[in-house]
Amino acid sequence: MNRRPEEAVPPRSLARLRPPPTFFQPVSALSEKEAGAELAWLAREIARHDYLYYVLARPEISDADYDALVRRNRALEARFPHLQRPDSPSLRVGAPPAEEFVKVRHTVPMFTLDNAMSEGELRDWVDRVRRLLRLDASEPLVFAGEPKIDGLSCSIRYENGLLVRAATRGDGFTGEDVTANVRTIREIPQRLLTDRPPPVIEIRGEVYMNRSAFLELNERRRASGEPLFANPRNAAAGSLRQLDSRITAQRPLRFFVWGWGEADPPITGSYLAFLETARSWGLPVNPLVRRLASVEELVAYHDDLEHRRAELDYDIDGVVDKLDDIALQERLGFVQRVPRWAIAHKFDPEKAWTVLRDIVVQVGRTGALTPVAMLDPVTVGGVVVRRATLHNEDYIRERDIRIGDTVVVQRAGDVIPQVLAVVQEKRPADARSWQPPERCPVCGSLAVRPPDEAIRRCTGGLFCPAQAVERIVHFVSRHAFDIPGLSDKQVRQLFEAGIIRDPVDLFRIPRDAAKREAIRQLPRWGEKKLANLVAAIEARRHLPLDRFIYALGIRHIGEVNARSLARHFGSFARWRTAMERLGAGDAKAREEIQDIEGVGPVIAESLAEFFAEPRNRSLVDALAAEVEIEPVAAPQVAGPSPLAGKTVVFTGELAHMSREEAKAVAESLGAKVADSVSRRTDFVVVGERPGSKYRKAVELGVRILSEDEWYQLAGRP
Ligand SMILES: [Zn+2]
Repeated sequence: MNRRPEEAVPPRSLARLRPPPTFFQPVSALSEKEAGAELAWLAREIARHDYLYYVLARPEISDADYDALVRRNRALEARFPHLQRPDSPSLRVGAPPAEEFVKVRHTVPMFTLDNAMSEGELRDWVDRVRRLLRLDASEPLVFAGEPKIDGLSCSIRYENGLLVRAATRGDGFTGEDVTANVRTIREIPQRLLTDRPPPVIEIRGEVYMNRSAFLELNERRRASGEPLFANPRNAAAGSLRQLDSRITAQRPLRFFVWGWGEADPPITGSYLAFLETARSWGLPVNPLVRRLASVEELVAYHDDLEHRRAELDYDIDGVVDKLDDIALQERLGFVQRVPRWAIAHKFDPEKAWTVLRDIVVQVGRTGALTPVAMLDPVTVGGVVVRRATLHNEDYIRERDIRIGDTVVVQRAGDVIPQVLAVVQEKRPADARSWQPPERCPVCGSLAVRPPDEAIRRCTGGLFCPAQAVERIVHFVSRHAFDIPGLSDKQVRQLFEAGIIRDPVDLFRIPRDAAKREAIRQLPRWGEKKLANLVAAIEARRHLPLDRFIYALGIRHIGEVNARSLARHFGSFARWRTAMERLGAGDAKAREEIQDIEGVGPVIAESLAEFFAEPRNRSLVDALAAEVEIEPVAAPQVAGPSPLAGKTVVFTGELAHMSREEAKAVAESLGAKVADSVSRRTDFVVVGERPGSKYRKAVELGVRILSEDEWYQLAGRP
């Protein structure tokens, strides 16, 4: 647990008392009177150890010895149930579930703080306080500054030192009785550690959960399939407001005092002195509370804590500044339930400061390598953030972000959290700068960054596990291998089951009995569906070169470029040889490719990167062994073709050709295929259910061809 070095020394009533002589006798040998005396001693002794352990973090006895005390207490209570004390340690483990929460009226309403969202608003508040108190700027004014704990306000009533009732804030006037729940919070004493307790004191403060405990709790809930809490505050609220306080007892709730309600005798003097008294009673007081004597100190205190948020294991969303002098507080009073003598100086809700512990690289579905900051957990925008994007390597270099730096993290709305900047003053001597990886951290392929791009990419797209699903989905898509019956979901399913790791595996399914059996075992796969898939795969063992190139999903290679390449090289063998040379860095090969019309240097570079990776080369060859790749003829632009130089537009569905095939045929005959009809359109080919292009063609008087007329003109099928 966290130590609180600034905690005061234990008060005198924490002194150890000798155990009664009966302590060493069996429970059955004790008289009622002896049992009562021993229960009184046990309540005090166990409370003392709770305080030493939970508040001071200085245990005096082992867990086993502590458990022995608790067991002895339970055994005595089992024999003499009517002797159970109101401060019995047994109450710490929770009571049987309640039907509902009983309403509790606060004798003194619980107040609401006004907020200062900026330094300017804080200064306005201080000016107003001075004006109302008729103090000029030269007169001293003392404030207490304390962290604003992001938890649940709670009021705990002690009568003659004994905890009698605890209530939530509710609407400020009426709350809910959570006495049984609050008793389970070990650092809240059931009896104040003082020999002279006040007749009545209502302690007010914040119930909260440490961030580390929240993360552990969520981890356990994830493992058991329970819904997760959004943040430590929600976890604390959900844990405190439990009808079954035995559940509360299992949740590591904590408490800090920040005030009082009803008090007899009244609290007078200084707020900071009150906190010292509360501390001496065994109540947890935040060690970061400070005495502040000027606006400058208030601002510095706010800024310091804002920058140290992540160092604290609990969430704070600002600081609370209060006038320290209780007499002055009373002079200023309240407007509605808002005290004029206190203000919550909030932090920027979307930003937080934390330490960047490491930079890891994430590989996206498209192969983009994104550096991600691993952070000390910090709550920002209501969510615990442990990772934030660093966008790309230039972003890191331009901001000189190093491992070990304190950084500003922003989370606005639902946008992915990002690292905004480095806090230079907080850079430790051993901060390390970061180098982008040369290889993909997922598959080990070369990771390259084209000169004009910000993003580094993995070149192992076809087998890199981070990208494989996306690539296989592309591979089987309609304009590539066109294997119907394989949706994105099914590709993912087959991939995750280990049946397909890359596109070559698809072609192994028809002859691999083990793969087929594995598919049969998958949910939503029957014999018929499998047979259809096998048939669809077999039907694609013949494929034109352009579609083959397109299917590889090489960056920048769309259908048009794939067609240009296929036409230029004609056959797979010629293309493959050129790619081998390109991948090996052959300048002549690169020149040849760059010079192909519509290709250019960007595509040449992309192809070079792809074929520089040996696993891509062997994958292409393995694919070529599975399918027959048909040559593609170069277009015959010259000659007698009636389509040469003409602009053609297709609309509607053709009965005998896909739109892509029709386009390819038209282009091979020297025509230009356009997407929309204009006055320069020569022909509009109209299939079934034509769209608006048909009407436009009629309007403009463009020549309209039926599907049959089109085949006559094109000379096929
Ligand atoms: Zn990779």
